[in-house]
Amino acid sequence: MSKQTRPLSRRRLLKTGATAAAGGAALWSAHGVAAQSGGAPAVVTGRRFKAWIGRGQGTNRTKLEEVTLRPISGRQVVVRTEATNLCYSNVPPVLGIQPPPVAAAAPVSALAAPSGMRRMNDMAVIQGHGGIGIVEAVGPEVRRVQVGDRVCVSGTPQCGACYRCLRGRSDMCQFLSAIGADDLVAVAELRDGTPVYENSHIGGLAELMVTFEEWIVPIFTKASVADVGMACSCVAVAGLGATVSPGLAMVEPASIVAVLGCGPLGLSAVQGARIAGASTIIAIDPIKARRDVAMKVGATHVLDPNVEGDKLVERVRAMTNWPTDRLWSGGRNPGGRRPGAGADFVIEAVGLDHVKPKLESGPDPTGILPMQQGYQICALGGHYITTGLPRGNITLPGSLFAIGGVSHHGGQAGGASPMRDIPRFVELMEKGQYLAQPMATTVVPLEGMLDAYEQVAYRTTITALMLG
Ligand SMILES: [Zn+2]
Ligand SMILES: [Zn+2]
Repeated sequence: MSKQTRPLSRRRLLKTGATAAAGGAALWSAHGVAAQSGGAPAVVTGRRFKAWIGRGQGTNRTKLEEVTLRPISGRQVVVRTEATNLCYSNVPPVLGIQPPPVAAAAPVSALAAPSGMRRMNDMAVIQGHGGIGIVEAVGPEVRRVQVGDRVCVSGTPQCGACYRCLRGRSDMCQFLSAIGADDLVAVAELRDGTPVYENSHIGGLAELMVTFEEWIVPIFTKASVADVGMACSCVAVAGLGATVSPGLAMVEPASIVAVLGCGPLGLSAVQGARIAGASTIIAIDPIKARRDVAMKVGATHVLDPNVEGDKLVERVRAMTNWPTDRLWSGGRNPGGRRPGAGADFVIEAVGLDHVKPKLESGPDPTGILPMQQGYQICALGGHYITTGLPRGNITLPGSLFAIGGVSHHGGQAGGASPMRDIPRFVELMEKGQYLAQPMATTVVPLEGMLDAYEQVAYRTTITALMLG
């Protein structure tokens, strides 16, 4: 192994006293949340690696390029990618597809950073948002992981020190709002010296991920790359987070659960509901192949929203009827005001269509209708957990919203707290409770990424993993 490519440990760094960084974390000063490298010496590697880089407009915007790693410093961590999940939410930047405009549409994500001086489209950005891998180098201030550790590079950061992390809502960590174009740090460069950035400071669609300590979770497991990659994917974390993490609402044993949308996130929620001991799990999706997987991984009933049409809410409520309406007898039906008991926990995992699916389309490509239906399916006193990204504004009956007793939980990553929950989710996979294989239905090498992303975009696979 040559000197240039040898992984750099903190000990070696201290021994060799590497040159100070000319870029790297020192540039990350927006929002005042970073750039706290304390003048520590930087690590210089100059290593070359392959990365899928998006730049410009149009459907050819993402290309496989060879880049050179820039020096790291402070709290930065270099991870050799083992696997990364091809998340549906990244279809637009990866495939250069824009969803059709919708009248009076609200921004897709309320978390989107305000626009700044730089434009993301003009920058060379490694796509993806997270994955798993092995730590190859750490900056001198990193405490959470060491060289050689197996880690999840989480889509959600957890600093552990901001107000929301301290209140148990690290799905809303302060670092999450520092991922806009002006916040990104160049981690590598193209042959002509063009700086290369990463989506959300993490990338994933590359042989290396260079991130900050806040995005890293050590996972002490020897399970297979595909299984760990699936269990640690943003979609699995969100689906399990929405059901078995204490962040939002934990599904209770013997409860009735409805899951709208059976993509990898919804199917992970179905599994979470099964793991939590729900007695009835109703999975709803227009795609037959996805309903079939739902039955395999834990659903007790499946419904096709295209068949149910306007009657979907009534149908689910009828399925949740308790054996008795008799008073004073422990019944749960709402006494004739509305039919059926409703589900104790409803998880919405639909979101908008970026492109028209090649398999069965749902009734509303904006994702608004299922988000409204989910609220009405929920029991009085029940919990409604939303995870999808719809396009537009929802409308609900005001009185039901005001005094109907439904607790709505909106959260990022299903409310999962990375350091607390991701190792637990890996444990669920290792013990055979979370089934990874029916979810990762496409597994490709780095070069096969674009084809696999098309399958994700057109929903012809459940989800895809790219190996590093
Ligand atoms: Zn994602
Ligand atoms: Zn935080």
